Amino acid sequence: MRTSDTQVLMPASAAEAVDSFGDGRGVTVFAGGADPEIRAHATVGGNLCAPPGRESPRADLQAPLLALDTRVRSAGPGGERTESVEQFLGRAGGEPRLVLAIEVDRPRRASYLSQRRPHAHSYAVLSVACAETADGLRVAAGGTGPRAVRLSAVERALAGGAAPREAATSAADGVDPHDDALASAWYRRTVLPTLVRRALEQLSGG
Ligand SMILES: Cc1cc2nc3c(=O)[nH]c(=O)nc-3n(C[C@H](O)[C@H](O)[C@H](O)COP(=O)(O)OP(=O)(O)OC[C@H]3O[C@@H](n4cnc5c(N)ncnc54)[C@H](O)[C@@H]3O)c2cc1C
Repeated sequence: MRTSDTQVLMPASAAEAVDSFGDGRGVTVFAGGADPEIRAHATVGGNLCAPPGRESPRADLQAPLLALDTRVRSAGPGGERTESVEQFLGRAGGEPRLVLAIEVDRPRRASYLSQRRPHAHSYAVLSVACAETADGLRVAAGGTGPRAVRLSAVERALAGGAAPREAATSAADGVDPHDDALASAWYRRTVLPTLVRRALEQLSGG
């Protein structure tokens, strides 16, 4: 299934995604999301497209897939196309698309951390994924809004040579978290920089 360093994952393979990335470097991003039940049964396409819940964030794979600069192959009006996961998630008017596959390049390094609510389903209040890709360091967060987003201010700071601790201070710039059953917007805004700093330190082997 693997062609060079690009991994193609079909929607029915969330568990396979964890297996196939294997050594924990790229894969913490897949292995750390959601709870064991969802990791065992959810599909990549279903998790990517899970509608935002009012009571808690869903779609824990969105942030890792954004950080990994994933491409999404989908079918819908106008036929098949492949686009970045950002374009896919931001498509106009929620255009209906069926995810056929995602293409992921193995990152040089990657890390994933989440802040979880003690609960049988271990819901993620916040999650942060970092990846060093061919294009540089990418950082994305889930739980900061209806969909996961890239933390552009952090990425810019890192590209400008800032250390993780310094770059992480801008983590909440441009994000708009809201209150839900898991946590308040204030809590998310307050905790996000620490989670980003730890994820960046983990990426650096700290
Ligand atoms: C109360 C609650 C809390 C949850 N909390 C979390 C959480 O914290 N973290 C987390 O990761 N998940 C969470 N989930 C699960 C998440 O919402 C998804 O349902 C699940 O990860 C995906 O399951 P599935 O593959 O069976 O897809 P489904 O649940 O069957 O589908 C999810 C959505 O994606 C669409 N869809 C499915 N496959 C495709 C495809 N190939 N192409 C396009 N659209 C598709 C469906 O139409 C549907 O809208 C939660 C679910 C519930 C009900």
